[in-house]
Amino acid sequence: MSTATSLFPDTLAVTNLSKSFGARRAVDDVSFSVRAGEFVALIGPNGAGKSTLFQMLSGLFVADSGHATIAGADIGQDPIAALAKLAIVFQQPALDLDLSVKANMQFQSDLHGIAREEAKQRIERWLNRFDLTERASELCRQLSGGMRRKVELARALLSEPSLLLMDEATVGIDPASRAAIVADVKALCRERGMGVLWATHLVDEAESADRIIVMAGGKTRFDGTPKELIKLNGHTQLTPAFLHLTRAEGKS
Ligand code: ADP
Ligand code: MG
Repeated sequence: MSTATSLFPDTLAVTNLSKSFGARRAVDDVSFSVRAGEFVALIGPNGAGKSTLFQMLSGLFVADSGHATIAGADIGQDPIAALAKLAIVFQQPALDLDLSVKANMQFQSDLHGIAREEAKQRIERWLNRFDLTERASELCRQLSGGMRRKVELARALLSEPSLLLMDEATVGIDPASRAAIVADVKALCRERGMGVLWATHLVDEAESADRIIVMAGGKTRFDGTPKELIKLNGHTQLTPAFLHLTRAEGKS
């Protein structure tokens, strides 16, 4: 695990990435990095450009300019190598609700071409890690929103990614389950040396991040620790410090 850190100090490196929809610059010359084992929160109001950024990082949209590398592989030049190291939990739930928890996991491991015996072990390990073993045979439809998100997370981790992208992954989930998922993902960063980029508009989810990137109007407005963000402009708490930086967009 520690070797990943020395091989790939930056598990994600984004350089001058831009994307427009017509005249609107959804992502405007964005640069930042995520190191192995680091939990980075990307916070920004609705419309900031977070999902557009994620869509470029996951190869769904081609950037107008700039580039990004995942575990050293350029998404534009070498997408197969880059995407092999990436897992993503999208804003929209993507489980098949009429399949069991285990079948959803199996489907994902087949997509990644993981051999059946290896897949069986990984599925057991991840179900166990998220306390889902007893629910393995249940249809996903029967699970609560928080449980479904845990299944999506467990499923994303089957491919043992270097980088995990989470896009508003806790929307519609009760506060206790939200906090538990944030804590789980943070622990996984440490255990596996995996980098995480966690997009959210919920400022409290960023409090325990190693670093916070604030995005608004397609641009990054801040990149530093939660403490540095709080102190910026003389604040004492995260929410007013964040609102101060993004106020202009909030009023429009
Ligand atoms: P966030 O995820 O931070 O809420 P988005 O990336 O979804 O922000 O949106 C950024 C901007 O790009 C918004 O103004 C949004 O309306 C626009 N946008 C996003 N996706 C599309 C699309 N497929 N077509 C046109 N405009 C889009
Ligand atoms: Mg979004």
